[in-house]
Formats: sequence, C-alpha cells, structure tokens
Amino acid sequence: MFAIFRLLVAVAVALACLPSGDAEATTLARNVRIGIHADKTRVVLDLSEKVSYRVFTLADPYRVVLDLPEVHWQVPAGAASRKGGLVAGLRFGLFKPGNSRVVLDLKEPGVVRSVFLLPPAPPQPYRLVIDLAASTRTAFLAKVKPPPVSAAKPPPRPTAKPRRRAGAKPVVVIDPGHGGVDPGATGIGGSLEKWVTLRMARQLRKVLNRSGRYQVALTRDRDIFIPLRGRVAFARRAGADLFISIHADSIADHSVRGGGIYTLSEKSSDKEAAALAAKENRADVIAGVNLTQHDDDVASILIELTQRETMNYSARFASALVPELRRHIRLRRKPHRFAGFRVLKAPDVPSVLVELGYLSNRRDERMLTSATELASIANSIGRAVNHYFGGLKH
Ligand SMILES: [Zn+2]
Repeated sequence: MFAIFRLLVAVAVALACLPSGDAEATTLARNVRIGIHADKTRVVLDLSEKVSYRVFTLADPYRVVLDLPEVHWQVPAGAASRKGGLVAGLRFGLFKPGNSRVVLDLKEPGVVRSVFLLPPAPPQPYRLVIDLAASTRTAFLAKVKPPPVSAAKPPPRPTAKPRRRAGAKPVVVIDPGHGGVDPGATGIGGSLEKWVTLRMARQLRKVLNRSGRYQVALTRDRDIFIPLRGRVAFARRAGADLFISIHADSIADHSVRGGGIYTLSEKSSDKEAAALAAKENRADVIAGVNLTQHDDDVASILIELTQRETMNYSARFASALVPELRRHIRLRRKPHRFAGFRVLKAPDVPSVLVELGYLSNRRDERMLTSATELASIANSIGRAVNHYFGGLKH
C-alpha cells in the first residue's frame, strides 16, 4: 500500500514538472482498452510517446481520474463506449489547455492497485497501465485525495447594472454546452452533443456578427471542457447583456423529439425540467471535477435579489425565442420551462438554455447534424435576439 502511495506521490511530482500547455500537443493516444482479470480490472492507454501522468480518485460517484499532458486522441470508433469489470463507463478529452484527461466511472468502490508506464515492445507502443481492484467504501474514501485545486478567482459580486456604456453594442455570449472530456449526450447515430453545440454556436456567432449590431463571444471555440461556474464567470467578465447556452438532449425513448427553452428558477416548472437541470448540472462530475469544495453551489440554487430582475429579462428573451424557433424546429409542449440550471446562475446576465432537440431521435439528429438546418436555426435565434434588444429600447 505504502509503495503505491509513494508511486502516486512520485507521479504527482513528475506531473508538476511538465512544461506548460502552450506547446502544440504531439503525443497521440491511440487506444483505450479494458482487460478483465480474476483479481483486477486493467485499463490500458496506448500512447505514441512517454508522458508524465497523475492518477487520483473521487467519490460520489466513484471515479478514477488520469491526468496527462495535452494529447491528440486518435482512438478507434467505439473506444469511448468501452466498459467492463469495475469500469462502468469512461470518457477522455481535453480538460483544460495543456491537460488531457481520462475519467473512469466505477461500478463500485475500487482501489488503484498500481499505475505504470510500459516501454514500447513492437508492435506495442508505450502503454500506460492502471490496475484496479474491488474495495469497500471505507477503503475508497480513505484514499480519496484530490489534487490541489488551482485557486480560481471568485467572480465579482453583482452590481446594480452599470455595465454598458451609452452607444456601445450589446454583448452576447454564446455558450456551446459540454466539450473536451465531457461529450454531453450521444446521438442514436453516434453524434456527440459537444460538437452539435459548438457548430451551432459558431453559426449563431456568424449570424449575429453579420448584423453588425452586437459584440459576440463564445465561452469555448474548441473541443475543451469548461466547468459550469467558469462559463458563468466568462459571461460576467465579458459584461454580457445576454447569455445563450446551447444544448441537445438524449433520452431512452427514441420517439421523443423537439426542442425547449429553459430559464432559471428556484422551483422547477415540472419534473421533466428538474430532471434535465440535474442532468446538465452533472457536467462537472462527468469531467472529474471535485465538487466537495463547491457544496454551497450544488446544494441549492439560491436566487439573489438582483437576480430577480434579471430573471424577468431572461423570460422576455425566452418569449421572443419561442415563436422564432418554432418556424424551424418542432418544440415540446410547454416550450418555455424553468429549473435550477447552474449555468444560468449569473445574477446580472439574462440567461437562457436552449435544448435544440433530441439526438436520440433520428429525425432530430439528422436535423442537428445538417449544416443547412443549423444555419436556419441560427437565423431564427438571431431574429429573436434582434426582437429582444429592439424591444428593450421602447
Ligand atoms: Zn447538454
């Protein structure tokens, strides 16, 4: 046991010596494999080069996280759906600039018995091996020692509304949901929500820029994970006058289709909206973020006073959006709903979350993976943005 601890410490030290993430990633991750043995579950990552690495565990839910320098993922199709033994699911991708990540969801508590890097033995490349063995909750919790969290600056306190200089263009922040190690929903034909949302966001940026009426920013413009509070902080730093978070859902019943518009509230409008918010709020857990220090944030959505006025503006934009979107996409019954979405929590930025449809439905997926359709949807959201800001002048 002590040897493993020493190994982990050595690994952590090695990782601390990594060069910063600015350099172009050249290492290729070629495969992720899972081997099931009588006494252990072995996870193997095939790599083109030797890398530094760090492994740690997180509880509730039980996860094992492997951090690497930024690598390119060239794994076979289907690698992300592998599971077996102790591993109930896995994800990989960029966590932050310079830091790629693999997150393993465990079926039950497990200990990391050993982690080691095997040198190439042609035709085998470098192999990073993690051996996991079944354990107990008590033993698991005793090992949970998340890495030090880089001290993120708390966002500024909300102020009454001083931001916009007279005559300045309104700032619209578009937030493509998910990204990097968090793929979001998976479509029936294999599409990933993180790409649908990014394409939609870029298209909407094009439409809004073309109008010349707005200053537009995207929370991400590449395949990278951003924590929910990071998205909120981005909007506030940008002095956003409107925040549009783009998503697409997936559900077991493949016949369900249609989009919806969501705004923040303490009480959910219905069970379905509450369940959706809970699902979207899990993005940080999915990406292997340790949430224990953010309990205040997770426990409940407390609406601050300044937020109430903001919520009225959010609802106004949602009302402008419903008829415009309806021209291009089918909307659910009760198209505007409310729930406690963490990404909509900026107290001073009117914010909506748009679910474009269900990737689990073939027709919705076909629509959301078509450039032409996305362009039409972007035009309708653009018209709603014009109506909203046009209406504010009167
Ligand atoms: Zn989503």
